Parts: sequence; C-alpha cells; structure tokens
Amino acid sequence: MNVDSITNGVVIDHITAGKSMRLYELLKLGELDCPVAMIKNVTSRRMGKKDIIKIDAEIDIDLDVIGYVDPEATVNIIRGGKLAEKKSIEMPEYLTNVIKCKNPRCITSNEQELKHVFRLTDRENKVYRCIYCETKASV
Ligand code: ZN
Repeated sequence: MNVDSITNGVVIDHITAGKSMRLYELLKLGELDCPVAMIKNVTSRRMGKKDIIKIDAEIDIDLDVIGYVDPEATVNIIRGGKLAEKKSIEMPEYLTNVIKCKNPRCITSNEQELKHVFRLTDRENKVYRCIYCETKASV
C-alpha cells in the first residue's frame, strides 16, 4: 500500500497528535482485512503535529466514534484517487455501545443485555456521562 495515495478508501485526517491509537481501537480497525496505515506526528501547518489514518477500502466509518474521540478530525472518502466526499464530524448527543461504563456498581456491569449509553452533558468540556449512573467517561 502506498501510504501517500490511496485509490479507494477513507482518510481520517487532522487527528490530534496521539489520538489515532484510541480511534484505531474504538473503530475496531484491527479487525479489518484491508490495509490500514496509522501515521503519527505528521507536521501540520495548522496543528503543529497531527495523526492520520488511511484505510485502503471504502468502509463505513462510525462518525460518532470520531466525534467522541476527536471532533476536530476530518474524514475524506477517496474514490478513483480523488477526494469524493468530506464527512462532517460532530460530537454525538448519545454514544451507544462505543465505550463501557467503568463504575463496577453500574447496572450495565450486571445486566449484560443493556446497551452502554453515554450522553453528552457538557459540550464545551466534552463531557460524556453514563445515562444510568452518571459516571463520567474518560476518552
Ligand atoms: Zn454507568
């Protein structure tokens, strides 16, 4: 895979330096069969340093995950070697089954069937809280 250019795929750009690993985990990119490149600490005029993730296949990206981990990131869909689509990233109001509540007394720890749902309670400080027990999520 040529890291510089992909023909058909997804490029997650302008990732805050250091956050690409968390995105890789939560987007479950390790489970993909196609080539995935994670490039860290790329020099960026706008950001100083940034991370980039390139996926060599047009997969469905969970934009909520990106909005949660790094709402400043951009997602570009590449088709035929050209930029075909730019996805807009927003912090999701609710985050379902992306992260788990860490509170051992939370009902989600005992009830395996329950969805893990977090709600954005403070947009300015990017705070998400478990809807069951109000425990704060840590990115
Ligand atoms: Zn909880």
